[in-house]
Amino acid sequence: MDYDLIVIGGGPAGYPAAIRAAQNKLKVAVIDEWKNKDGTAVFGGTCTNAGCIPSKALLESSELLHKTRDELGVHGIKVSGVEFDVGQMQKRKTGIVKASTGGIALLLKSAGVTALQGHGKLLSGRKVEYTAHDGKKETHSAKHVVLASGSIPTEIKSMPFGGNIIDSWGALDLDAVPKKLGVVGAGVIGLELGSVWRRLGSEVVVLEALDTFLAVADQGVAKEAARHFKKQGLDIRLGAKVSAAKSTPSGVEVSYSDASGSSTLNVDKLIVCVGRRPFTTELLGEGTGVQLDERGFIKVDDHCKTTAENVWAVGDCVRGPMLAHKGKDEGVMVGDLIAGKYGHINYDAIPSVIYTHPEIAWVGKTEEQVKASGRAYKVGQFPFAASGRARAMESTAGFVKLIAAQDDDEILGVHIVGPLAGELIAEAVLAMEYSASSEDLQRTIHAHPTLSEALHEAALAADKRAIDNVNR
Ligand code: FAD
Ligand code: NAD
Repeated sequence: MDYDLIVIGGGPAGYPAAIRAAQNKLKVAVIDEWKNKDGTAVFGGTCTNAGCIPSKALLESSELLHKTRDELGVHGIKVSGVEFDVGQMQKRKTGIVKASTGGIALLLKSAGVTALQGHGKLLSGRKVEYTAHDGKKETHSAKHVVLASGSIPTEIKSMPFGGNIIDSWGALDLDAVPKKLGVVGAGVIGLELGSVWRRLGSEVVVLEALDTFLAVADQGVAKEAARHFKKQGLDIRLGAKVSAAKSTPSGVEVSYSDASGSSTLNVDKLIVCVGRRPFTTELLGEGTGVQLDERGFIKVDDHCKTTAENVWAVGDCVRGPMLAHKGKDEGVMVGDLIAGKYGHINYDAIPSVIYTHPEIAWVGKTEEQVKASGRAYKVGQFPFAASGRARAMESTAGFVKLIAAQDDDEILGVHIVGPLAGELIAEAVLAMEYSASSEDLQRTIHAHPTLSEALHEAALAADKRAIDNVNR
């Protein structure tokens, strides 16, 4: 069959590329090989099946349990005999994943995209070999091909996955609460999944090789978050490099070294979450002209064009942050570019969110990055403790921090740690997308009482004009 576009990979980068191209009246097929653990073939990739969606489902359930047990008393709500059923929590999560993957299949169908389940391999001349799950092979050709093959967890040879050593997918599927849980890596996955199991009752030890906590985040935010995680009982050990782990019948023996020398830690389960790597196994045949970089990512330019004519690549398999929304926007951009329309991504305005409690979210540069750039800057900060809405919500941890340029007042970065940070950051992303100044935010009316007033006040504080907080 001849197509205008074949997309290989139906995750959050691939399926939006297919849908946008179909909206642009192109003839499109998408090939995806994902199978869930029960053997069902589904679209949606890592994000929907083993990433964003199931992790947020478990974070919600575990946070509700924590709130019910420990935070309702202050409202005068008395609860006793609270019980918790891991099986039901997992059933709810599976239901949410199913609804989401079913939704994607429906979206593809209603957009007129041909959805093929099985393996796709790019051959030379933009031919694509499709091997269905039953082994049947077909060769299709396309004017354009989008590679959206995603990423997989990094496996370290000295701590191979198996038995009680699990990856993030395994950690999302535990059917019992481990008494003692080890986590290698205090990155995004370590903090989110560590929080889930800690709230459900595990003793959680997180071993992080770096001396700096959350080195990717603004260090003011990271310090505030670390303080709360410690209070929640997450035992985060910095400067602790794990060298090996051995699965035993009853648990895992973890070897690590820190400033005080070599140590051993015994845990019931160990989650290894030390990053993810691009997945391109059996994706490219001979002579396609597509090149990989030294770290295994598919080489692309700013518009996601690979080194081969009319072959594009988007999402986790190319450079840039491994985030579902980054992949989605790249997919949509390519779906438009292929149809001869305008498409562009502002890589400087991609938000990051960590769904812990308190939540962490940011866009733009950290204070450390701005300082290193040499540009003179000003900072406005507003604590949620001074927000009426946050007080009413009994959620006063954290703050909003806004960094703007001293010369022209351009917003350079916004960093939030606190309630619904992931929702609040959207306003800052929009502001930066439109090159707003801190004064633009200062002159924008925010409803009272809302959490969004904290961003407003942080912008005012950048010019020492805060109303609801003492100006420092
Ligand atoms: P994937 O989602 O990996 O999809 C790629 C698809 O292509 C898969 O279905 C794969 O089977 C298929 N495929 C690969 N090769 C072939 C082939 N040759 N033929 C056919 N099919 C193929 N990001 C966020 O933005 N927010 C979050 O809250 C978040 N939480 C996460 C939580 C966890 C536990 C994990 C692991 C990740 C999380 N992420 C989150 C990251 C997010 O999941 C990824 O950035 C996103 O899934 C990348 O999308 P993608 O389409 O590039 O790749
Ligand atoms: P990560 O890069 O966020 O963190 C990995 C951590 O492991 C790093 O801090 C690193 O220093 C540490 N580490 C590496 N080797 C180690 C060792 N031997 N001993 C101790 N520590 C070690 O990676 P991740 O948490 O695996 O997440 C992978 C990707 O998934 C991320 O890029 C992230 O963007 C994406 N993700 C996003 C979200 C979200 O957006 N909320 C949630 C989950 C995952």
